[in-house]
Amino acid sequence: MSKLEFLSEELGALKEQGLFNVIRTIDGPQGAWFVVDGRKVLNLCSNNYLGFADHPRLKEAAKKAIDEYGVGPGAVRSIAGTQTIHLELERKLADFKHAPACIVLQAGFSANTAVIPAITGRGDVIFSDELNHASIIDGCRLSRADVVRYQHNDVDDLRNKIIEHKDSARRMLIVTDGVFSMDGDIAPLPEIVEIADEFGAIVMVDDAHGEGVLGDSGRGIVNHFRLEGRVDIEVGTLSKAFGVMGGFVTGPEVLIDYLRQRARPFLFSSGLTPADTAAAIAAVDMLLESDEPVKTLWDNAAYFQKGLKEAGFDTGGTQTPITPVMLGEAKLASEFSKKLFEKGIFAQSISYPTVPRGKARIRCMVSAAHSKQDLDFALEKFVETAKELGVLS
Ligand SMILES: *Cc1c(COP(=O)(O)O)cnc(C)c1O
Repeated sequence: MSKLEFLSEELGALKEQGLFNVIRTIDGPQGAWFVVDGRKVLNLCSNNYLGFADHPRLKEAAKKAIDEYGVGPGAVRSIAGTQTIHLELERKLADFKHAPACIVLQAGFSANTAVIPAITGRGDVIFSDELNHASIIDGCRLSRADVVRYQHNDVDDLRNKIIEHKDSARRMLIVTDGVFSMDGDIAPLPEIVEIADEFGAIVMVDDAHGEGVLGDSGRGIVNHFRLEGRVDIEVGTLSKAFGVMGGFVTGPEVLIDYLRQRARPFLFSSGLTPADTAAAIAAVDMLLESDEPVKTLWDNAAYFQKGLKEAGFDTGGTQTPITPVMLGEAKLASEFSKKLFEKGIFAQSISYPTVPRGKARIRCMVSAAHSKQDLDFALEKFVETAKELGVLS
């Protein structure tokens, strides 16, 4: 018997509990419509908020970079892998975020596992929102600091927990997602910053779903709340609204200088490819030139959410283009998603353990790439499906 046979039992258990994830295959580029498992469907699942993933200008920039710089970075950035375009992207992102400095990494995931263990260690306490992203959780674990989870977006609970731990902590870090991906709600950053200032804690926000979405021209949550200069560390991703791949950290020079010396994903994993780097530069350029894509995104989100509400759906507490359609039971949500797919709409159901029991939903990701006709089509099919399943009368 194979030594790995225990894994097939684990997989069997996942299937029994309905937790086995069937991964769909996309053929062709991300866009408003795409081909999934051989079928053309309306895409309500991707984080391609601005439609940049298949944008001609980004593709052109990537092709040109391949001709000029080749396909691979050749080494980790700290030895021989930092190319001029990496520095150009870092300068651009720092300008875009109105931050002093920036370091680019391979992914948002790497950015969190780079920064958190680099700046915290034994004796420190990290206060982490209970719904924070897995990469924040992993970054916290790798740091060996004590991790104290506070209730989601609950600043009173955060405050109480800080008071409880402040005397024994060497240093304190508060870390939160900017926009929470399952409900689309926004972290109460102004209050968090106030508490942090009161107790001398460092504040870090992971703005993966806020970059390209919130703030002027998509500058993110810190700009949205006009807190520039008051949040110590911002983490971002280039793989959602920016449409490419990669992650980054912005903050004071001293932080970025330190990360170049000590962040393990920077030191021990090669940098972004020239194509990704150049495409990301083009994405930032587009946002610097015009806020049109961001406006279209919000316009589409408002239109779609209004339509759902008017039809009688519960879209939870979203404050962003992330649109949950709350259905309750996991089985109903998965049945709903299946029926939508048959009608030409790709919108995944999300249930326990990703969200609490009884809070299963279809999560729709609205994009600037959608036309009003696309959204009307989606609304029509949502209502049709809801009637078939007795969700709406
Ligand atoms: C998506 C996401 C990440 C990971 O970003 P990648 O660039 O895909 O690795 C990190 N943090 C949050 C909050 C995210 O939503």
